[in-house]
Amino acid sequence: MAVVQHASYDDWRRVYGDVYEALPGRPDTPCPNCGHKALRLEFVARESDRIGYAMFWCDFCRFGIRISRTWVPTGVPFHAMGTTPEELRKTVPEYTVVYPPPAADPEDFEEVTF
Ligand SMILES: [Zn+2]
Repeated sequence: MAVVQHASYDDWRRVYGDVYEALPGRPDTPCPNCGHKALRLEFVARESDRIGYAMFWCDFCRFGIRISRTWVPTGVPFHAMGTTPEELRKTVPEYTVVYPPPAADPEDFEEVTF
């Protein structure tokens, strides 16, 4: 099975926005890369203020993005900051991280507030 990457970072960000907004629900959003409804979103955050980062990927084609700073919505479970990579690996498989183009405005790295 060879899935060629065709979804851009912006495509992924758009879909991430849809999925994030629907939390704690789980929308039937198809993967921007392969079209399968196998998207997964996991958070690692501080217990105190629920600020942390997110991993967003597709379980089918194993492509995805990382969100460097975000807030975990109320009612959504997350992994505690300090969770080891080995522990995370039980939930989060290795996947190919899609990055923004090098020329992208640094602002694009900031989390969008919904
Ligand atoms: Zn996919």
